[in-house]
Amino acid sequence: MYQPPELNPDIAPLIAALNPAQKEAVTAPPEHRLVLAGAGSGKTRVLVHRIAWLVAVENISPHSILAVTFTNKAAAEMRGRIEQLLNVPVRTMWVGTFHGIAHRMLRLHWREAKLPQNFQILDADDQQRLVKRILRSLDMPEEQWPPKQVTAYINAQKDEGRRPQSLQDQGDYAQRQLVRAYTAYQVQCESAGLVDFAELLLRAFELCRDVPEIQAHYRARFRHILVDEFQDTNTLQYAWLRVLAGERGVLFAVGDDDQSIYSWRGAKVENMVRLAKDFPGTEVIRLEQNYRSTGTILKAANALIAKNSSRLGKNLWTEDGEGAPIQLYAAFNEYDEAEFVVNRMREHLDGRARYSDLAVLYRSNAQSRVLEEVLIRQRLPYRIYGGLRFFERMEVKDALAYLRLVSNRDDDGSFERTVNTPARGIGATTIERLRQIAREGGVSLWKAAVGAGPALGRSAGNLKQFLDLIEGLARDTAGEPLSKIMDLTIERSGLRAHYQKEKGEQAESRLENLDELINASRSFERPPEDDELDPLNSFLAHAALEAGEGQALAGEDSVQLMTLHSAKGLEFPIVFMVGVENGLFPNQRALDEGSLEEERRLCYVGITRARQQLYLSYAEVRRVHGVEQIGSPSIFLRDIPPECVVETRPRAGILRPSFAGGARSSGAGYGGGGYSSREPRPRYGEGYNLQRTPITNAPAYGGFKLGAQVRHVKFGEGTIVSFDGDGERTQVEVRFRNAGTKRLMLSQAKLEAV
Ligand code: ATP
Ligand code: MG
Repeated sequence: MYQPPELNPDIAPLIAALNPAQKEAVTAPPEHRLVLAGAGSGKTRVLVHRIAWLVAVENISPHSILAVTFTNKAAAEMRGRIEQLLNVPVRTMWVGTFHGIAHRMLRLHWREAKLPQNFQILDADDQQRLVKRILRSLDMPEEQWPPKQVTAYINAQKDEGRRPQSLQDQGDYAQRQLVRAYTAYQVQCESAGLVDFAELLLRAFELCRDVPEIQAHYRARFRHILVDEFQDTNTLQYAWLRVLAGERGVLFAVGDDDQSIYSWRGAKVENMVRLAKDFPGTEVIRLEQNYRSTGTILKAANALIAKNSSRLGKNLWTEDGEGAPIQLYAAFNEYDEAEFVVNRMREHLDGRARYSDLAVLYRSNAQSRVLEEVLIRQRLPYRIYGGLRFFERMEVKDALAYLRLVSNRDDDGSFERTVNTPARGIGATTIERLRQIAREGGVSLWKAAVGAGPALGRSAGNLKQFLDLIEGLARDTAGEPLSKIMDLTIERSGLRAHYQKEKGEQAESRLENLDELINASRSFERPPEDDELDPLNSFLAHAALEAGEGQALAGEDSVQLMTLHSAKGLEFPIVFMVGVENGLFPNQRALDEGSLEEERRLCYVGITRARQQLYLSYAEVRRVHGVEQIGSPSIFLRDIPPECVVETRPRAGILRPSFAGGARSSGAGYGGGGYSSREPRPRYGEGYNLQRTPITNAPAYGGFKLGAQVRHVKFGEGTIVSFDGDGERTQVEVRFRNAGTKRLMLSQAKLEAV
């Protein structure tokens, strides 16, 4: 029978603050445990307290503890919380992500891992470039063997722990070729001392499995292994945990199957079930009380996730009151949506909220651009958590560099950036030679290139083609509207084709960003009297400024923007979930394939980030891939009980209880056409009627109201979709029927009511 040690008085108050189920988990005897519990039930908190308990009560040295988290930030926070709890530094404790810990082991034992001491990490982009080179050397044409897919194949093999020599082609030609590529890639990595992300894990796993001294060392060292977000471990990570634990190590895992959102990267939620079998004596502890969110938010989350069929099943409740209803906003378009978000933020900031209490969550990276634009205009400091701001993203900078070069041939930075992006056979030696010529002659790289001619040998032809490309772009875009210039540039530079060929999540997101850049430039096509510079140069200046400003410094109080994926594990008092539309969230692929469960879990993750107030919004019209599309509210909205939600309009405040109890929407509401819970809701995927009754309580600006029909001399007829600023400086955004959406100065636009 296990005798718990005497309670250390320092830790007694900590333990007293836990509920009985949490206490059971934290004070469990040193045996395997799985804490299976829903969002906000205190899993992470229990994990941290468990460590404190082990150290303070079980007298386990921090040196003997390994704690695995999902992000580096979470690791840093966890260390901070533990130090605070214990009031001692715990430097000798290993806390980190799987990748971080694997890397640390490989640095310590590079010899045993058969790596050079100064091995380098290959990031995702570098890896892809290397795969490309390999494919070329193997005569595997890119059209048939897209590098992105070959890379994904290699990583998937590694995630499953498979080396090339263990793979059999079974007479299959395609498989044989893939194994060939994997083999060649691996040989290249070994000889150059390169380690990709998947290799970090696989090497560290093999190191612990195959080198007896290392295995013995870590098994003796890590008596306790604790893992957060266990539902997102992959096969290899799981296998590694088993090797490390051995017979004597004690595993403490916490997770939530309903928050498994990385199956597309190989995460295996089944590991939660396997655990009980592979780690004998594992007891499962369930936590059911939620401490994070209001009753309303929790009810919405529970109802949504109940629609999934493959679940381990759990029930969350809270002692907290109902709290404020969830507010749902039907925006005209993405600008209107962003304005709504920022206006609501202002209201909260006028009250008690700090910037960092506010978070905006979105499904796709490209959605940040419009939000960033409005945040910058309204001077709210923001940060993009776990990502780059729009104008700092690689593909966006590449496209802009082309434009800069077109606009100014002597811009050496842009020349260097574009000359071999995408790859066109102009290598480092040629560029170095150009630099030298430029230095000697005191001229720009462009001039050096024009003058160099045959002196450059084999690259001369490729270079000439590049110079022609830029000249041709300059010629063909002169006098064209900015969005056309942008489109042509992305097309002719080869950037679009480059990412189209690659396929996969990352490339898709880069294509979306390029399309979003065209959208951005379109909204910049203001009438020339607005600006001194021509539209191209004023746009470039805008991009440069946006890339350099706005983003708050690390540690500065700021609004948080992030994808739903990177929000896992975090919490915020006020959350805006934007773009809740079919095709965006759930994304089109999930809709097409009818595989909605993972997207629904992602929605569950999003909702459960909110503590006090949740806003949901969707746009009736949104530019996607440069085309205005009519959106329909996400099918997930229908899973939320009507009594949890109210519809809202900006400035005018809350309009009416939403589709609850038959209060018929007056037009602008959920579903656009206005219907109550008694009426059939649109079926999923169904577009909906944009005919709407005028919004009577929208505020008027210079005699115009939001939603008003207007005529412009040049652009024709359209609908007012947003206002910004006051008085003389009021800007108005109009969605023209035939000329796209434009932002105009109201005082100068000479709009007429239709
Ligand atoms: P997720 O599934 O999102 O990762 P989680 O289960 O890890 O959530 P935590 O982040 O640990 O949940 O806890 C959610 C919130 O509830 C935190 O603010 C935490 O401090 C608080 N909390 C948890 N347990 C208690 C408790 N017993 N008393 C008071 N607050 C608690
Ligand atoms: Mg957590």
